[in-house]
Amino acid sequence: MREWLFISDTHLTPDRPDVIRLFVRFVDEVAIHADRLYILGDFLEYWLGDDDSAEGLEPVFQALKMLDNGGVNVFFMAGNRDFLVGHALADKCGFSIIEEPYMLEINGKKTLLLHGDTLCTDDIEYQKFRTMVRNRKWQQQILARPLREREQLAHSMRQQSEQANAEKDYQIMDVNQDSVIQTMKKYSVQLLIHGHTHRPAIHDFNINGQPAKRIVLSDWHNKGSYVKINESSEPELVEFS
Ligand code: MN
Repeated sequence: MREWLFISDTHLTPDRPDVIRLFVRFVDEVAIHADRLYILGDFLEYWLGDDDSAEGLEPVFQALKMLDNGGVNVFFMAGNRDFLVGHALADKCGFSIIEEPYMLEINGKKTLLLHGDTLCTDDIEYQKFRTMVRNRKWQQQILARPLREREQLAHSMRQQSEQANAEKDYQIMDVNQDSVIQTMKKYSVQLLIHGHTHRPAIHDFNINGQPAKRIVLSDWHNKGSYVKINESSEPELVEFS
C-alpha cells in the first residue's frame, strides 16, 4: 500500500542529541516503510551552507541516505532556519529539494505543501525578514562570506528573532485564516499540509461549500510527530516516542 509521510520542525542540532537519536529511530522504524517522506522545513535548527562540516549531524545525513538506498523518495522543503540547504547536501543525503508552494496529488486529491510561515501574514515584521532572507541575491552574498562570519550572523539573527518573538502576541505568530483560505482557493486545493507554527492539529472547515482540511505538523522535542496518509485512510497525526 502506498504511504506518504510528512514531518517538519524537527529543528535537528548537535545540541540536542536526544532528538537526533529520535529522528534516526523514526527513520529505522517508520520512514523506511513509506514510499515518500516529505520534510516541510526547519528540519535543521540552522544551516550555514553546504560547506559547513556540520559536526554531530552525520547520523542524520546517514539516516536520510539509508532511506534513499532503501527506495524511499525523500523531499526537502526549506523553512526559515534551513533555507541555505543546497544541492551538495541534497546529493550527499539523497533527497530532492522542492520549492514552496508545492503541489502533489494524494489519492486523486490535489494537496498543497508549505512550510507555513507565508501564512503568518499578521506578523508584518517577520514577513519583512522572510522577504530578505529568501532573496537569492541576499543568500549568495551571505554564502560568499567566510563560515565563521556566517556563524556569527546566524547567532545574532536567532537572538533577535527570539527577542522579537518573546514580545509578540501568541495570535500574531499563528496563521491568518483569511490567508489560508485565499491560498487554498488560489491553488484550488481542499487539503493543505504545513508546519512552522508548532501548533499540531487537523482543522476542518469549508471552502466554496466543500469540506477542506488544514493539517499542521508538530515540532519535535522529547517526542516526535508525523502525518501519515495511505491509500485507504484519512490523514492521521501520529506521535512518535
Ligand atoms: Mn519555521
